[in-house]
Amino acid sequence: MSKHRPPYPIEYYQALRKEANFGCAKCGVPIVTIHHIEGYEGEHHLRELIMLCKEHHSQADQGLITKEELYVLKTNPFNEASVKHKLQVSPAKDIVVHIGGNTFVETPVPLQLHGEPIISVRREGSEVLFSLTLYGKDGDTRVKMVDNVWEADASLVDVRYSEDTGNADVWLSIKLEDSEPYIEVRVIDGELHLKGRFYLRGNLLDVRDDGSFVLNQQMYFRGITAIKCGVGIAI
Ligand SMILES: [Zn+2]
Repeated sequence: MSKHRPPYPIEYYQALRKEANFGCAKCGVPIVTIHHIEGYEGEHHLRELIMLCKEHHSQADQGLITKEELYVLKTNPFNEASVKHKLQVSPAKDIVVHIGGNTFVETPVPLQLHGEPIISVRREGSEVLFSLTLYGKDGDTRVKMVDNVWEADASLVDVRYSEDTGNADVWLSIKLEDSEPYIEVRVIDGELHLKGRFYLRGNLLDVRDDGSFVLNQQMYFRGITAIKCGVGIAI
């Protein structure tokens, strides 16, 4: 795990997102990692960083995508002219997030545990950007996504993404390898539907399909609607 790496400056995310037009430079999938084309040598240099999905990052690490091709993709990304994959909401509409049976309208942090945002959502133009922190049961394992970009080693995370699945326009599943915590995001009619299991300090928060939040297997709450709050649910 790359926990000793310094985090990327936030302006690197913005620059790389703009350069790759909100997706993997190779395939356009919007949940990405940052790959060092020349390998990580203790520093981050924007000129050799590229946004790739987990699968293409792994292929690049194995040398299945050459450095030459990566530099070509950096200047001619898959999403060059337009975004093909659509983790998007209409810029004219409010961002609506459903978590279990609770609804959050234009609420940047729908879920916060012990003072720490677990799920944040914002948009840049029509693109939806998630930030997310997942802890393991032991409280140690921690993976973090900032604006759809994984900060940690993507090998710890099982990320699946598809479009036009069942009744959803977009289906996104993120799971810690060999562990329970997960989050699922569906975009249905331009609104986001989230569920998952989250740990923090040994507490389990289970967001179920039936619309209930269950903390440590005891009923917690449901049926909350928050409109333009900074934080939706704080536990
Ligand atoms: Zn890709």
